[in-house]
Amino acid sequence: MPELPIYLDYHATTPVDPRVVDAMVPYFTERFGNASSRHHSFGWAARDAVSAARRRIAELIGADSREICLTSGATESNNLAVRGIVNADPRRPLHVVTMTTEHHAVLDPCRRLEREGVEVTYVAPRPDGICDVADVERALLPHTRLVSVMAANNEIGVLQPIARIAELTRPRGIVLHTDAAQAVGKVPVDVGELGVDLLSATAHKLYGPKGIGVLYVRRRRPRLAIEPLLDGGGHEQGLRSGTLNVPGIVGFGAAAEICRTELQAEAERVGALRDRLLAGLSEGAGGVTVNGSTTARLPHNLNVSFDRVEGESLLVGLDDIAVSSGAACTSVNPEPSHVLRAIGVPDDLARASLRFGLGRWTTAEEIDYAVEKVRSLVNRLRQLSAVGHAS
Ligand SMILES: *Cc1c(COP(=O)(O)O)cnc(C)c1O
Repeated sequence: MPELPIYLDYHATTPVDPRVVDAMVPYFTERFGNASSRHHSFGWAARDAVSAARRRIAELIGADSREICLTSGATESNNLAVRGIVNADPRRPLHVVTMTTEHHAVLDPCRRLEREGVEVTYVAPRPDGICDVADVERALLPHTRLVSVMAANNEIGVLQPIARIAELTRPRGIVLHTDAAQAVGKVPVDVGELGVDLLSATAHKLYGPKGIGVLYVRRRRPRLAIEPLLDGGGHEQGLRSGTLNVPGIVGFGAAAEICRTELQAEAERVGALRDRLLAGLSEGAGGVTVNGSTTARLPHNLNVSFDRVEGESLLVGLDDIAVSSGAACTSVNPEPSHVLRAIGVPDDLARASLRFGLGRWTTAEEIDYAVEKVRSLVNRLRQLSAVGHAS
């Protein structure tokens, strides 16, 4: 019997790897200096640690240290990318292309820009969740300044064809941003191979601490103009002022280094567990549909809908397994996820969906427990609803 509750929500956040915690601890206590202090050894120690971490983060994504702008997380990185590029360009009209299935940290800044008079086109995905590159091409206008398409979806795990989108944006001089918060550390991500100008990632999705992220900014001549969100001491080459979060940055660097060396083995191990989960659910429960492509997908993601099941009872019944549902559970009448809607999942089926996120500490024993738990719950709920319909 595995220890309960079981955590299968690694897309929401990940525990910090103990090796990462060990690396961070001295930077809260004896090495507490401000990385901007130039005149004493406390400052130098902090600055050296930040430089080393920056190199490790850069290495994980195939970038140069000078292209790493440290932020508070992927939400800030996305806002800095989207708002920063548009607001640095005085020309109007200006046009942005993104997708309907993006994270709210991209969609909401786009909505705000629309209220400010910027045109935005939201490209819909195919039913498998992946965008048709021809649709992106059709959306491009002579005054398109930015295209923002995520590398991997946080709900259905599908991988978008970023390198092929770059073939469209690059010759036209359009800036390409990708929100890679779910992809970095889980699948190989190389900014050169992807051909992106900007990339967002965050430490707490890859076994690092919360509150520290990165915006990769491609170095080129002339320098890419980005309007900062925060002005102050001119940190991060003027892109993001504020005293550096040294322990967080050190943790991000340590987490990045572990991902770089262990990514491949981990993806294989976790991918096999994910396949075991799907096989178990399909066999035991039936009436299971996988949401999103089954091939171009993160190895640790599974998003499934169960037919003939009422969504709310499903989540309530899974009391000792931490997963996410296909609906916002904050409201009385749960609103189905915008991602499932965008790929055409009917609302009742979206409410009866579960997102499983597996990770570094997921075991086969936990997966077998989860399969058995979901299987018996789904079958019980279906029997109940059949009885209800008969009477
Ligand atoms: C988690 C996540 C974010 C937000 O990252 P934070 O660091 O929590 O702000 C943005 N985009 C995607 C795809 C995510 O999964």
